[in-house]
Amino acid sequence: MRPTKIICIGWNYRSHLAETNAAFPKEPIVFFKPPSCLAGNGADIVTVDGTGAIHHEVELALIFGKKGKNIPKSEALSYVSHIAVFNDVTARDMQTQARSVGNPWCIAKGMDTFGPMSDPVPIGSVKDIHNLDLELSVNGVVKQRGNTSLMLFRPEELIAYVSRFMTIEKGDIMATGTPEGIGPLVKGDIVVAKINGVGELRNKVV
Ligand code: MG
Repeated sequence: MRPTKIICIGWNYRSHLAETNAAFPKEPIVFFKPPSCLAGNGADIVTVDGTGAIHHEVELALIFGKKGKNIPKSEALSYVSHIAVFNDVTARDMQTQARSVGNPWCIAKGMDTFGPMSDPVPIGSVKDIHNLDLELSVNGVVKQRGNTSLMLFRPEELIAYVSRFMTIEKGDIMATGTPEGIGPLVKGDIVVAKINGVGELRNKVV
């Protein structure tokens, strides 16, 4: 099912805040990626020449099974039917340039294939989404390691917050932020993102 939107959360792990020198947010930082950026397991991540550094960001994705608005925290997870491994691929130089002058960074986050996602699994297939190990490797070398217990805003808080302002539709995706260790991808790299019990996402950069 094609989502109407991919809701992304920025700077949601303490460790990633530290490495990007970002201030601790008082409220979740929310942006979108367009559904046209989605790519599957095994698909190529296609870079565009002249766009500078491209970074990987392993994230837990939530996929919504029903529509909701003003969703209370206590019911938030009942709106999530599936979860998946997501790579929030980012043209970092373009994003940094846009931020430095106060412009939006849509292109930096939204290029075709910049949203690889593993096949979703039912949320019930993991014991606790608040304690999942995330890992990302490039050419077999581990670059990112984290655990969803280290999120600043837990999934329930993110869903309650976002749904105060916008309707979450069935099929929509929420990428919940990345832990530390973001870094560059270059042509030819094989990037593998994993979340224990959720799946593995393998993509080649071309
Ligand atoms: Mg991200």
